[in-house]
Amino acid sequence: MPQLFEPIGCVVDPETGTLSNATGAYQKRFGDLAGLYADEAAFAAMAGDLGDTVVYEVMEFRPNERAGDLIFGVTRMQPGKVGSEYFVTRGHIHRQSDRPEIYYGQKGRGLMLMESPEGEIRIVEIGVQTVCYVPPYWIHRSVNTGSEDLVMLFCYPADSGQDYDCIARAGGMRVRVVDDGKGGWTTVDNPGWRPRDAATVAALYGQPNKENRT
Ligand code: ZN
Repeated sequence: MPQLFEPIGCVVDPETGTLSNATGAYQKRFGDLAGLYADEAAFAAMAGDLGDTVVYEVMEFRPNERAGDLIFGVTRMQPGKVGSEYFVTRGHIHRQSDRPEIYYGQKGRGLMLMESPEGEIRIVEIGVQTVCYVPPYWIHRSVNTGSEDLVMLFCYPADSGQDYDCIARAGGMRVRVVDDGKGGWTTVDNPGWRPRDAATVAALYGQPNKENRT
């Protein structure tokens, strides 16, 4: 017989970005994010005061990691910029890269920056009550382009996993999201971005070839 799990209701508080009945949580401090931003001098100057500040945090409900089940939770991101670049999460691709994800805006405004293995960019703006669908195979990173906390619900298959190094291995994402000088945002190319070779692209699609097999 299959194992039965207990149903549960979890309350999202958009003001605080918290989730009741969470089974886990983690926090990222400003000082943890060295190397993410283009303006390293601005980052270093801010790290003096902000180094220990929690810039984003996650509370989640994770019943198990069984294929077919779901993990969901709430993420809260502080507003801010390093130089002209808006605050971002580290970002990831799912370790099982064919697994999708849903984000649902609860407070503030921001966007989901997505990059395909080949380097195509897509952006979905997220406001309150926007559902953002992140399809399988897209690397994704949240960006707070607003002036208050960005709070989102998320939900993804329980066996997805996360690969947090795929962005760093390419020298960052292909574009950066910066202040457009008019209170909004725009993108600029990241000159440090390196296109992935064919073997790396195949591996990100979950099709390891001879060169990539480990
Ligand atoms: Zn994800």
